Amino acid sequence: MSDVTFKECQYLGPEFDVRTWDYFNKPTPYCGHKTVEGKSYCHEHYYVVYKKGSTVNGRRKEKEVEKEIAELKRQQEIEEIENE
Ligand SMILES: [Zn+2]
Repeated sequence: MSDVTFKECQYLGPEFDVRTWDYFNKPTPYCGHKTVEGKSYCHEHYYVVYKKGSTVNGRRKEKEVEKEIAELKRQQEIEEIENE
Protein backbone atom coordinates (compact mmCIF):
# COMPACT_ATOMS: atom_id res chain seq x y z
CA MET A 1 0.00 0.00 0.00
CA SER A 2 1.38 3.41 -0.97
CA ASP A 3 0.60 6.92 0.23
CA VAL A 4 0.98 8.35 -3.26
CA THR A 5 -1.93 6.59 -4.92
CA PHE A 6 -5.56 7.47 -4.44
CA LYS A 7 -8.47 5.28 -3.38
CA GLU A 8 -10.85 7.28 -5.53
CA CYS A 9 -10.51 8.05 -9.22
CA GLN A 10 -8.94 11.49 -9.77
CA TYR A 11 -10.34 11.90 -13.24
CA LEU A 12 -12.02 15.24 -13.80
CA GLY A 13 -15.11 15.32 -15.96
CA PRO A 14 -15.19 16.94 -19.40
CA GLU A 15 -17.13 19.88 -17.94
CA PHE A 16 -14.21 20.77 -15.69
CA ASP A 17 -11.99 23.65 -16.80
CA VAL A 18 -9.24 24.67 -14.37
CA ARG A 19 -9.40 28.29 -15.60
CA THR A 20 -13.14 28.80 -15.28
CA TRP A 21 -14.26 26.34 -12.60
CA ASP A 22 -16.18 27.97 -9.74
CA TYR A 23 -14.24 26.34 -6.89
CA PHE A 24 -16.10 28.22 -4.18
CA ASN A 25 -19.55 27.13 -5.23
CA LYS A 26 -18.93 23.74 -6.82
CA PRO A 27 -17.03 20.69 -5.59
CA THR A 28 -14.21 19.59 -7.87
CA PRO A 29 -15.91 16.93 -10.02
CA TYR A 30 -13.63 13.99 -9.45
CA CYS A 31 -14.94 10.70 -10.80
CA GLY A 32 -14.66 9.12 -7.34
CA HIS A 33 -14.91 5.50 -8.44
CA LYS A 34 -12.63 2.89 -6.94
CA THR A 35 -9.17 3.11 -8.53
CA VAL A 36 -7.13 0.46 -10.25
CA GLU A 37 -4.62 -0.94 -7.75
CA GLY A 38 -1.57 1.36 -7.73
CA LYS A 39 -3.15 3.94 -10.06
CA SER A 40 -5.00 7.19 -9.49
CA TYR A 41 -7.87 6.35 -11.85
CA CYS A 42 -10.65 3.80 -12.14
CA HIS A 43 -10.43 1.23 -14.95
CA GLU A 44 -12.38 3.34 -17.39
CA HIS A 45 -10.46 6.55 -16.80
CA TYR A 46 -7.07 4.94 -16.48
CA TYR A 47 -7.65 3.76 -20.01
CA VAL A 48 -8.88 7.21 -21.16
CA VAL A 49 -5.91 9.00 -19.60
CA TYR A 50 -3.36 6.44 -20.72
CA LYS A 51 -4.70 6.37 -24.27
CA LYS A 52 -4.45 10.14 -24.50
CA GLY A 53 -0.79 10.06 -23.54
CA SER A 54 0.20 7.28 -25.90
CA THR A 55 -1.04 8.40 -29.31
CA VAL A 56 2.53 8.41 -30.64
CA ASN A 57 2.76 4.66 -30.24
CA GLY A 58 -0.65 4.08 -31.76
CA ARG A 59 -2.66 0.88 -31.80
CA ARG A 60 0.00 -1.47 -30.50
CA LYS A 61 0.24 0.51 -27.26
CA GLU A 62 -3.53 0.59 -26.97
CA LYS A 63 -3.68 -3.17 -27.13
CA GLU A 64 -1.03 -3.42 -24.42
CA VAL A 65 -2.99 -1.07 -22.18
CA GLU A 66 -6.18 -3.03 -22.76
CA LYS A 67 -4.36 -6.17 -21.74
CA GLU A 68 -2.85 -4.50 -18.68
CA ILE A 69 -6.22 -3.19 -17.54
CA ALA A 70 -7.87 -6.57 -18.04
CA GLU A 71 -5.15 -8.09 -15.89
CA LEU A 72 -5.44 -5.41 -13.17
CA LYS A 73 -9.20 -5.79 -13.13
CA ARG A 74 -8.93 -9.52 -12.67
CA GLN A 75 -6.46 -9.06 -9.80
CA GLN A 76 -8.70 -6.49 -8.13
CA GLU A 77 -11.72 -8.75 -8.41
CA ILE A 78 -9.77 -11.55 -6.78
CA GLU A 79 -8.70 -9.22 -3.97
CA GLU A 80 -12.26 -8.06 -3.43
CA ILE A 81 -13.44 -11.63 -3.08
CA GLU A 82 -10.62 -12.36 -0.63
CA ASN A 83 -11.44 -9.27 1.43
CA GLU A 84 -15.05 -10.13 1.94
ZN1 LIG B 1 -12.96 7.34 -13.03
